[in-house]
Amino acid sequence: MARSRWLGTVSDMKILAVDLGGTHATCALIEEKRILESETVSLPESASLADALKVIAPPLSRMHSQGMADAIGFGFCGLVDSRHTRIASTNGKYIDAVSLDLSEWARTSFNLPLRLENDARLALLGECYCGAAQGETDVVMFTLGTGIGGVAMIDGQLLRGKHEQAGVLGGHAPVTLTGRRCTCGGIGCAESEASGWALPLVAKSWLGFSASSLASRKIDFENLFSCASAGDAVAGELVKHCLQVWGAAAVSAIHAFDPELLVYGGGVMRSADAILPFLQEYVASNAWTPWGTVRVRAAQLGNEAALLGVVPLFATEAPLVR
Ligand SMILES: [Zn+2]
Repeated sequence: MARSRWLGTVSDMKILAVDLGGTHATCALIEEKRILESETVSLPESASLADALKVIAPPLSRMHSQGMADAIGFGFCGLVDSRHTRIASTNGKYIDAVSLDLSEWARTSFNLPLRLENDARLALLGECYCGAAQGETDVVMFTLGTGIGGVAMIDGQLLRGKHEQAGVLGGHAPVTLTGRRCTCGGIGCAESEASGWALPLVAKSWLGFSASSLASRKIDFENLFSCASAGDAVAGELVKHCLQVWGAAAVSAIHAFDPELLVYGGGVMRSADAILPFLQEYVASNAWTPWGTVRVRAAQLGNEAALLGVVPLFATEAPLVR
């Protein structure tokens, strides 16, 4: 089983983990399943990746000098060519990233080897290593937040594909032919119908929205679920719309990747009690899985998943060479 391969090969390693998002980066020192210490730093809005590296270098240096790390595992919020330790594409931010050599940066700055992976793939690795997907080999993870992230593992291996896109575009599965234009260029993606950035657009164009209690509040998922549970009819209709969108995306992912487990993370899962039972029922009723029923489960590790995911990142690849 994949997990047993991970254990035993990394037991003596200390790894510096970096989870680089759009506005913040978290640096941590990891030993097996423990985060020995971590520090989150803010990144300037206009930061290039070169600028971001200058911001994260001091905390990494401090942790390295205290903990004597063996390697750096770097999670990045874009398309990553992990086999060549290269950032393949970014979405608007960090446009210098594709031309930067992070391995060289790690060698020069810390005298350490570096491995690079997409942050969503690292989050799934973390959940498989010590979270909601322990012992699982065939998993799809969705992250419901500002956007909708996706990642797939088949037979214990992260799906990557020829162009590093395989499995990570589940949020851009079309769920309606007459929907909104998405940031990806498509129409009616799950993300453009039921994500944090799309929700205000969807809500404001909903019939009867001006009479909804949501109209006088910030339109986010927390307020949406709150208004719906208080009996607001429009909020209830919007919740049903979002649940059906996520359900359709789940069925698409099941038919594409043949998982046995769906894991859901992201800020929207603060309302997990209103989401997971619906998705479990939707999947049971709508996915064609004659072998049984795909299970639906909440992620367990939150923001720590991508940090802990660096451990199997090192154990599942070729032997580490300094
Ligand atoms: Zn899209």
